[in-house]
Order: sequence, then C-alpha cells, then structure tokens
Amino acid sequence: MNPLTILMHERDNVAIVANAGGLPKGTVLASGLTLIDQVPQGHKVALQDLTPDAPVLRYGIPIGYAIKPIAAGSWVHERLLKMPDARELDNLPIATVKPAPQAPLKGYTFEGFRNADGSVGTRNILAITQTVQCVAGVTDFAVQRIKAELLPRFPNVDDVVSLEHSYGCGVAIDAPDAIIPIRTLRNISLNPNFGGEVMVVSLGCEKLQPERLLPPGSFAIVDERNVADVGSNADTSLDVVCLQDDAHVGFMSMVESIMRQAEQHLERLNARQRETVPASELVVGVQCGGSDAFSGVTANPAVGFCTDLLVRAGASVMFSETTEVRDGIDQLTSRATTPEVAQAMIREMAWYDAYLRRGQVDRSANTTPGNKAGGLSNIVEKAMGSIVKSGSSPISGVLAPGEKLKQKGLIYAATPASDFICGTLQLAAGMNLHVFTTGRGTPYGLAECPVIKVATRTDLARRWHDLMDINAGRIADGDATIETIGWEMFHLMLEVASGRKKTWAEHWKLHNALVLFNPAPIT
Ligand code: CA
Repeated sequence: MNPLTILMHERDNVAIVANAGGLPKGTVLASGLTLIDQVPQGHKVALQDLTPDAPVLRYGIPIGYAIKPIAAGSWVHERLLKMPDARELDNLPIATVKPAPQAPLKGYTFEGFRNADGSVGTRNILAITQTVQCVAGVTDFAVQRIKAELLPRFPNVDDVVSLEHSYGCGVAIDAPDAIIPIRTLRNISLNPNFGGEVMVVSLGCEKLQPERLLPPGSFAIVDERNVADVGSNADTSLDVVCLQDDAHVGFMSMVESIMRQAEQHLERLNARQRETVPASELVVGVQCGGSDAFSGVTANPAVGFCTDLLVRAGASVMFSETTEVRDGIDQLTSRATTPEVAQAMIREMAWYDAYLRRGQVDRSANTTPGNKAGGLSNIVEKAMGSIVKSGSSPISGVLAPGEKLKQKGLIYAATPASDFICGTLQLAAGMNLHVFTTGRGTPYGLAECPVIKVATRTDLARRWHDLMDINAGRIADGDATIETIGWEMFHLMLEVASGRKKTWAEHWKLHNALVLFNPAPIT
C-alpha cells in the first residue's frame, strides 16, 4: 500500500491520512517520517514534535493547541488539543481583500420555467401552503388523492408537495423573533419552483391567519422590472381553503375543496413550458452535513471551485451554516464587497452568538460524535473545512434567516448549520438547486428542490453508489483534481436544473421535513 497524506497549507504541522482504512503504526511516509501510532483515515498525523501549548496548524491556521508533548508521527486526535477561543467581533478586517476580477463565464444555459416575477424554476411543482400543523393530516390525505387522481392528467407538472411544518399556533406569535418562522413560510410559498401558484390550507382558529402569513401584495405575481407584464395568475385575493368553514360538512367535503382548488393551479402550471435561460438564473444553496476531515479536502473545495464558476456565470450562490463559519469571520469580512456587507455579516454573527449564549452553549456545540470519529477535532477545524465551499469570490450580500434573495453573486445567508433548517431557510431565500456534501454519509433530500449530493470519500461513494451523485473522493485518491470535480459539478447542475437528469434523492423520493427556525418562545 502506498501511504497517502494530504497537506492543506505549507505552514501546516499536521497532515491528513488519505488511505482507506487508515495507516498502521510503523508505516514510513514518503517524507521518511515513521508513524508511531495507528492513524485512522481522515485523521491527522504530527509532522514534527509539538511542545505543550504549541499551535497545531491545518489550513495554515491554529485549529488547537497541544495539551501535552506530541511526538512527530503521532495520531493527533481531539483529546490532545485545546480549542482556540472564538474570534472577537470587533476590529475585524473590513472589505480589505479585493480578489482580482475573474473573467465572466458566458454561453452556459439551462432549460427552466420562467416565472412572472422574473425568477426561474428548475422544477414545476404545485406546493400547498399550510398556516398551521393542525391541517397537515387532511392536506396530506388530499395530496395523496391529487397525485393519484389529478396529476396524471397534467404531465408537465413534476409533483404536488404539501408544505407541512410545526408552526402556526401554540407559539408566541407577537414575539420579535417570530418574524423568522413567519417570513420563512411566506417566502417558501413563493419559491421559484412553485410557479407563483400559491394556495393555502387553513384551519380557521389558528394564530397564524392566512392574511398574516401572506398579506395582500406579498404573493401577487408582478414582475418588478416591468409592472405591466402581469401574468394571468396575478390575482390579488389569496386562495384559501378553510377547514372550519361552515360549508364543510364531513371530512370528504374538506378534501374535495382542496382538490377542486388544486386542479385550477395544476391547469395553469401544466400550461408552462421549459425555455432556454442563462445559467445566471440558478440560485444555488450549498451546504454540508455528516462532515469528516475529507469534507474540507475534497468535496468542499470542489464546491468552492464550482461556486466561483457560478459567480462568474452571473448566478446566485448562498453559503450558510453560521456556527461553521463563525471561526473564519475575519476571512469573510475581509472578502465583503463593501463595509455595509461586512457589517451585516458581523450583525448576523453577533445575533447568533447571543442566541447560543441564551441557551448556555457556544459554537462548539456544533460538532457531532461522527465528525470526531471522522477526524474533525473541533469546530475550528470543521469551520475551516466548511468555509471553503464559498470559494474565493467577493461576498456581495447578506440575508437574515428567512429573507428572500434579490441579488446575484455570492451571498452569506445566515442560517443554523442544522441540515434541515439550513435547507428550509435556503428554500425561503429562493433556492432552485441545492448542493450537499457529506463524508460520513446522509441520505438527505428535499421535495421542493433537487439536491445534488457529493461524497468526500471514494469508500462512501462506492457503498452509497445509488445515493451519491458525485464522488469527490477521487481528489484524495489522486484520480481527479479539485478543478475537474468542480467542472463536473457545474455541468451536472445544468443537467439537473434542466430536468434532463434526476438526482438520486429525487429518484428515490427521499424527502426530509421542512424544519422552521423558531427562536421565539412556544406557548
Ligand atoms: Ca449542515
């Protein structure tokens, strides 16, 4: 066996073992260094003797400090490291880095569904919005019948999805932070993949009344660039089926009301055709979950390369996961296009610091047992590997949780790192394509938007061959480069966005729940 180790930065004093199954004690590395411990795959080996309190450098920055002497050739695991303190949020470098402008990427297109508001869908889905969890069972019953009895008549419609959630009642709806779950639900209803066909199922007595969820003017489809160009569905009255309405006698009359309304929306959705649109209409959300030490070596750098390609093509790319970028805040504020963008980033991080403090934890609550088993010692090491998904482009905007994206370029969408909550908030921002990297492996998928999953290791890609769409592990194997995998990802995105190719999660219909971020109290 040829021992493979990966160094992320020339200053680093640890390297990552790449071989499947790890390397046994006594292995002699290419440098001549002999391992004095068995080192699992993805874990770190000390390249030199480290004295107590010496910084352990990966990505060229300290990911921790030695608790006791560590000899060269040792396995450097989390029990040997003291975590650095979080970077303070004052005196940060503000918009100091001006990356050299990259040449625009021209000529790339996909086949999408153009919406009246100017956005473009990658799928043509009827989404049924719900004001409250109480109606979830009835809506789901109706959706099953719609799929069986109506959908076959509308071949241009990809799916019918009920936007089920746990919010709407039993919550402190006037608390300041309630704005987050409410605007999240509102903006998800307006996701480009739903074609502007908003229909709502309400119970009747809930706190989140339909007019509060979707006030007049929030949902009518008006192209902001051309107000005269109003689509046929530019209705100003909200389409609501209220289960407590006196007209409903018996359960079946509720189901039939929902089906009757759904049919009208299906007819309009079915009349839509895909048309050729520039790649700049992509709104991509990038995320990782079930990370290992390879996430920051293979899959995430390839996503970062692809992020730069998308930005050059004029698209929108969102990176998120606040606790996973918090330790790299200085890298981010320095890459902001303007001081205002940097300040918005700091504001979101400060809000999240306070949110975590209220729960008496800090960012270190992020890491999982699987992360540590995969070689990630702590949140600093995880963050440095996560942040590379953002590539090297300037950061041109910031979204607070649940806000809708209105600009192109690279955007920091502040969300928790929780896979389901991050995905839900990116949907609210208007994501029409999702890229998800994983090292430990997760079958994550969404009903609302295609999810392209990228494996960090060849072993995972081999075992989960019908769940992973791209194997970035080939980078560690020496069979591909970050650039080639990045381009492969870019081309796959255009295929998936055009509906010519389905992701594995779509193929198997693997759909995780929408999970709202609700920092406000429950009553
Ligand atoms: Ca995540």
